[in-house]
Amino acid sequence: MTDVTEMTNAAGAPKAVEHTGPDPVVHVAGAQDIAHDLLVIPDRGVQLVPNIGIIGGRDAVLVVETGLGPRNAERVLEFAADHARGRKLYLTTTHFHPEHAFGAEVFTGAATYLANRDQAADLETKGPGYLEMFRQLSESAARQLEGVRLVRPDIVYDRSYDLDLGGRVVHLRATGRAHSKGDQVIGVPDADVLFTGDLVEAGQFAVFPWFPPHDTDVSGTRWLAVMERLAARRPRTVVPGHGGLGGPQLLADVRDYLAELRQETWLRRDSAADEQTIADEIADLMIRRRPQWIGREWIGKGVGCLCAERAAHAHDEPAPGSPS
Ligand SMILES: [Zn+2]
Repeated sequence: MTDVTEMTNAAGAPKAVEHTGPDPVVHVAGAQDIAHDLLVIPDRGVQLVPNIGIIGGRDAVLVVETGLGPRNAERVLEFAADHARGRKLYLTTTHFHPEHAFGAEVFTGAATYLANRDQAADLETKGPGYLEMFRQLSESAARQLEGVRLVRPDIVYDRSYDLDLGGRVVHLRATGRAHSKGDQVIGVPDADVLFTGDLVEAGQFAVFPWFPPHDTDVSGTRWLAVMERLAARRPRTVVPGHGGLGGPQLLADVRDYLAELRQETWLRRDSAADEQTIADEIADLMIRRRPQWIGREWIGKGVGCLCAERAAHAHDEPAPGSPS
């Protein structure tokens, strides 16, 4: 479980989350085949460990996510190189957050690192602040982040990139600002698999990295629009950033949660309730509706984000569902 505080550390980076779980270590031995030449190294429900993908074609293999820090990334690279058996290696990351991307330096020289332009910009501008913030989450997180060097992707694309692995084309697609400024999703059309990064967390409330004034890039309204588009595609298998794999329902679940969160927030916001009252009421409501979901501390962050977005759109139409 995580615990959100509003403290700011000495370096001025936001201290957002308390990390108290087991060591954030990727266990490659748990890798599962989910389609032909397509594996997922599952997160095993461990905080700060992402689901990692290994997608193979005739000529090349794409790794999705590095794990937190160089030692995790070394395990992932070794596993991927073993699996590749001489095929060329590529790396991509769904977004710049540390457990997804802060091991990329290990792949330098061994793999070609591809990312969307907005993510590359996130890495450059916000990477150092997040490194500082994540180092302070726990001793075990700090240990994994020892010696991290942030690197630039080798290939940067704007909106979409089709990567031909040989007999298999993988679709890298920038979604536009949602969970971060530079999210991308990775689709494997022949297997009907979609890697979503933290746009989707299975069995968890959506993670809103809403840390004003340090980071306010997350957008509830844009995220909802992205989820409406992704859910309409109904991929057979969805690999979320964290939590168990699932089908299209995982996308619908996040879409529906974000829609409710926005509606409930904006209704109260329009009645001029103060933000803390709104956050408390909505947390109660959402926890009652989804008692099994973890990450409850992120509900209030989502409310904060959506309150700010409502203020920015104050002259637009009324909130959906509000009495006219
Ligand atoms: Zn994230």
